[in-house]
Amino acid sequence: MENKNQQEHVHLLIIGSGPAGYTAAIYAARANLKPVLYQGIQPGGQLTITTEVENYPGYPEGIQGPEMMVDFEKQATRMGADIRYGLATSVDFSKQPYKVIIDEEKEITADAIIIATGASAKWLGIPSEQRLNGSGVSACAVCDGFFFRGKEVAIVGAGDTAAEEALYLSKMCSTVHMLVRRDEMRASKVMQDRVLKTSNIIVYWNSETDEVLGENKVEAVRIHNNKTGEKKEVPVSAFFVAIGHQPNSAIFKDYLELDDQDYIVTVPGSSRTSVEGVFACGDVQDKIYRQAVTAAGSGCMAALDAERYLSAKEHH
Ligand code: NDP
Repeated sequence: MENKNQQEHVHLLIIGSGPAGYTAAIYAARANLKPVLYQGIQPGGQLTITTEVENYPGYPEGIQGPEMMVDFEKQATRMGADIRYGLATSVDFSKQPYKVIIDEEKEITADAIIIATGASAKWLGIPSEQRLNGSGVSACAVCDGFFFRGKEVAIVGAGDTAAEEALYLSKMCSTVHMLVRRDEMRASKVMQDRVLKTSNIIVYWNSETDEVLGENKVEAVRIHNNKTGEKKEVPVSAFFVAIGHQPNSAIFKDYLELDDQDYIVTVPGSSRTSVEGVFACGDVQDKIYRQAVTAAGSGCMAALDAERYLSAKEHH
């Protein structure tokens, strides 16, 4: 016998609780779509691991990332969204109504689904990096670079993100020490040229990070050259990690079209995925902008797309 509590049908299901998911919930609730939102393993998403957010419009004095996400949640709740704690662990989009399993046990079916599961920054995996996270170690130069104006900073990575962030940092920091693990960069030629032409970016080739040094805040980084074995300590006030992001799309891979880096593919200018009635917004489908404000904007798009889809379905 099936346990009734373990099965439920909802009109609109939103998976994920960063700026994209909550914005979708605010719009969907106001459109009377009765959204149910599951928050996932990290309610509030990546903003809950940053400190101050100064570039989200509407907060003239800035705001702490975790506090901003509490505000988003409150606003969604006030509009009538049903916000729940729980992690989507598998899905079945093979036929309607689509199925989503929460915490490996509860089965939800939904008329439409908005995916806002975000992405996670990749880390090097050394203990000092975690210990000093938020105290000078950051995976987001655009978020945190400003706090290190006039200071020397390090950035690890050699892709387009690292190049872009190194250039961004070079405009406000005195020196940017860029740590590249091979003797070439993966970044596009034009980005590499820009980096190499910027006088206050010093590129360290064949260089790997052993340790981020500092008691309560970043004071230096110890690196070694993997060709010569030479070790070096570089004094810096911040250590930025820009070695890529992993979109949280694994549970959807059998049903939705993903690109070669596992981002969900959406029809340009919309939030539509390869499956009708399933929409995606925020970082799980955006590898370029990745900002709270762009995620929120795309969450709004997803709610409007879902509303149009559901109303067309009802009038069919
Ligand atoms: P990428 O996967 O392209 O690059 C990751 C970089 O990090 C690589 O240089 C890699 O080195 C390095 N790396 C990975 N692990 C480690 C490690 N443990 N230690 C040291 N270095 C490490 O990620 P990006 O985030 O840069 O870019 C993702 C995608 O988004 C790309 O397709 C990129 O082109 C695109 N993008 C485009 C932008 C634009 O068009 N403006 C801006 C930003 C991103 P290695 O090369 O040795 O593997």
